[in-house]
Amino acid sequence: MKIKRRTVQFQPNTRNLFFHILTRCNLRCRHCYINPEQHGKQILDERILARWLAVFADNHQIPKSPNNTNVIFLGGEPTLSPALPHGIKEARRLGYASITVDTNGYLFNDILDRVSPEDLDYFSFSLDGSHPEVNDFIRGEGVFDICTFGIRRAVEKGFGVSLIFTASRMNIHDLVNMPQLLTDLGVKRFFIQVIGIRGKPARKGETSLQLSREEWEAVVPEVAGKAAEKGVHVTYPKVFLMPDEPFSCAGLVADNYFVFPNGRVYTCPLCEDYPIHSMEIVDGVLRERPPIRECDLFSLQIPVLNKILHPGNISYDSDGRPISRIACCMLKEEVLPVER
Ligand code: SF4
Repeated sequence: MKIKRRTVQFQPNTRNLFFHILTRCNLRCRHCYINPEQHGKQILDERILARWLAVFADNHQIPKSPNNTNVIFLGGEPTLSPALPHGIKEARRLGYASITVDTNGYLFNDILDRVSPEDLDYFSFSLDGSHPEVNDFIRGEGVFDICTFGIRRAVEKGFGVSLIFTASRMNIHDLVNMPQLLTDLGVKRFFIQVIGIRGKPARKGETSLQLSREEWEAVVPEVAGKAAEKGVHVTYPKVFLMPDEPFSCAGLVADNYFVFPNGRVYTCPLCEDYPIHSMEIVDGVLRERPPIRECDLFSLQIPVLNKILHPGNISYDSDGRPISRIACCMLKEEVLPVER
């Protein structure tokens, strides 16, 4: 099958709501970015889910309409929340353009029986290896079998299914095996993420998990091409810029909201380990916060922002300059199958 590659530029007319509805999780993955001390330990109930979804669909508070807003329900593990089916249906009722649930594959609370394929666009399963030895070293014993069982059930029931692989030094050697697994599972959308040294890896000082430019570029574009040749739509972060490629900060030009159960609203995921969120939801109302906020730092650009907040994310030379030009973490590459 022929394939097409393209950089996905930030879409000024699209809003993305990354809605963390709880931080609780049944797993303890080595690379988890969730930080309950910063993000809260509440489990949002049906009433709050509906209210907060309305906030981001409400064109009086933010001048945009819901039909160009995508919502991604996240956790922790979002299916641990009994309120999730209500949240999904409410997002549909409000007219959200697309609805995705990111899950570790345990699919709690009979979620596949409580919503239908018409209620949401995708269940997006996190799997970090093509077999248990690789995946379970990162995500926990027995997780591979449970997650792949969940994927098969979701595909059988007719749900849209995608798979997320977080690449690091723990599993980059195994990425080459993922296209065949995607085919075996019947998955048609594949997201490759790069590990961020934030959350748990930052607290533990595990900077050696981060991939170098050479390690990333030697594997990821080629594997993405192989998956696309098998009919899979692949998305991965650009990570590194060529000398002539312009830098663009999503915090300045895109419309992304990373919402947490304690009401914090960030516009940049790099900033989520610190109380520098741009906005907060108080009594169901979205409010700007006073400086210093993350948005006051965006003009510093990514290498400086990383050095201040997460120095383990990027390699610097002896003069303190980044060795490679770094893209905004929200800038993506796509590799698409093209029907002849
Ligand atoms: S499944 Fe997700 S939220 Fe849970 S521990 Fe793993 S990375 Fe963290």
